[in-house]
Amino acid sequence: MTTNLLDYDLEGLVAFCEQLGEKRFRATQLFRWIHQKGASDFEQMTDLAKSLREKLKTSACIQGPKVVSRHESTDGTIKWLFDVGAGDVIETVFIPEADRGTLCISSQAGCAVGCRFCSTGHQGFSRNLTTGEIVSQLWFAEHFLREHLARKNRQDRVISNVVMMGMGEPLQNYAQLLPALKVMLDDHAYGLSRRRVTVSTSGVVPMMDRLGKDCPVALAVSLHAPNDALRDNLVPLNKKYPIEELLEACTRYQAAAPRDFITFEYCMLDGVNDQPEHARQLVSLMQTHAARGLSCKFNLIPFNPFPASGLKRSEMQQVAAFAKILMDAGIVTTIRKTRGDDIDAACGQLAGDVQDRTSVDRRMAAQRQGMLGGIKVVVLKGLSQ
Ligand code: SAH
Ligand code: SF4
Repeated sequence: MTTNLLDYDLEGLVAFCEQLGEKRFRATQLFRWIHQKGASDFEQMTDLAKSLREKLKTSACIQGPKVVSRHESTDGTIKWLFDVGAGDVIETVFIPEADRGTLCISSQAGCAVGCRFCSTGHQGFSRNLTTGEIVSQLWFAEHFLREHLARKNRQDRVISNVVMMGMGEPLQNYAQLLPALKVMLDDHAYGLSRRRVTVSTSGVVPMMDRLGKDCPVALAVSLHAPNDALRDNLVPLNKKYPIEELLEACTRYQAAAPRDFITFEYCMLDGVNDQPEHARQLVSLMQTHAARGLSCKFNLIPFNPFPASGLKRSEMQQVAAFAKILMDAGIVTTIRKTRGDDIDAACGQLAGDVQDRTSVDRRMAAQRQGMLGGIKVVVLKGLSQ
């Protein structure tokens, strides 16, 4: 059984190399080969002694993700599906813009939180991704894109930002997430600044505190409702960590990451959480917490509908009116623009095709009958930015 070196941050790799009787600087060299050059074959690493390369060949590997499919939008957005074994498939999305390239990464196969408006939530939880499976999404995409864009005579440094906004709740997979974040920030690997790596959470309060201490990257909090009654219904985790506790944790987080702000994500659901009254409640909530030191901005997300949700996307006028109430109160607010519309459509088809096989009810029925088989494909959340 060989060890996948994508599972290690630099300290982990140093420990692994020490077991092989190698010094720290060898681990750094190896780390750079893997992450900066995208090497997957030890023979490429010509500045490592032949004896070390031989040792590595028998004890280690650099195992990237298995690609199921790649969809490219005319606007440059690229979406990959990766097979992570046992029928689980995850998604990774690259979103290019004039001044940056953002990679949206998954942290779990499925998700246990079960938000009503989220297709991953409807699918249920399968398992946590390993550090290697999280890192390998970046490793693969960065080196694929370098090659791909170089061929099109475009730039060679591609991914400038990472957002943990794919499938899963990253803070319910903290032990695997933390080394992955360290790899993203490490100057010997991707060297991303901590403000360019965003963890998005539905509000796992104790883990927000730990992240603030261990690795205070940018934080996005999926709020979606201005009061507990509504949030309990949309984001079930709210019953455990209600809004007041969540906002206090946000304020503590900011103490760990001075000069930063928290981004609140708010998915606009027609007739559910998009009324002027909801915006006014948010303003009052934010004003109370601003007085205690919270600084924030809002990102309003047009809902990407899927049949099982029974929910509809808010009209654009409604979203604009909602944004105006927040902005008039001095809250910086953006409306997320949808990207990759044309492959979104393909996604919708895939989702429709797959939903039958993945809905929790059907899966449970199949399990009861002992007839579950084949690949379980996730329902995609859509490409918004
Ligand atoms: N579990 C984390 C990160 C993954 S979800 C979290 O909840 O924050 C990332 C974002 O996708 C969340 O803000 C969520 O609101 C959004 N999202 C989920 N389902 C969506 C849908 N159907 N349409 C639009 N945005 C959605
Ligand atoms: Fe999980 Fe986030 Fe989806 Fe909620 S929105 S079910 S926390 S992935």
